This record gives sequence, C-alpha cells and structure tokens, in this order.
Amino acid sequence: MDNSVSMKVDGGNATQNPENMERSETTEDIRKKKTKATTSDVWRYFTKLGPGDDGIDRAQCDGCKQKFKAGGKQYGTSTLKRHLDSYV
Ligand SMILES: [Zn+2]
Repeated sequence: MDNSVSMKVDGGNATQNPENMERSETTEDIRKKKTKATTSDVWRYFTKLGPGDDGIDRAQCDGCKQKFKAGGKQYGTSTLKRHLDSYV
C-alpha cells in the first residue's frame, strides 16, 4: 500500500518532463478504471446485510464471515477493500 503512494509521487515528478506527461495521463486513466472495477469487485466477496439497529449499513465477508460497517454513504467500500487486501 505504501508503494502505491510513493508511485503517485513519482508520477507527479514525471509531469515536469513533457514526454512523460502523456504517459502519466494514461497511467491515471488505467488507475481510474482499476478503481471502478475494484469497487464492484468487492461485492463478489461480501454480502450486503443492510442497516443494523443503529441505521449503519453492514456487509459480511463471504470468506471469514466477519461483519463490517460498509456499503452506506458514510462508510463506502474502502473498509471492505482494505479487508480484501489483507488476504493478499
Ligand atoms: Zn474476510
């Protein structure tokens, strides 16, 4: 995860070079598509449980049956994505 952050910094430096700027835009394009795919991918591994007593949406991991506050406007799917990352 830390690696991707430092990669972003490198991409910012690359924009100083016009030749690299085009490549940097392409990389960003791919990154956007990847992010979209990952968001929908999450629901292949989690089941939406809907809001609990506190009104917060929850999702359950199909793998380990852990429950997470996720899926609603407030929590999104970043928690679920992080959990999937922990399997890798
Ligand atoms: Zn799990």
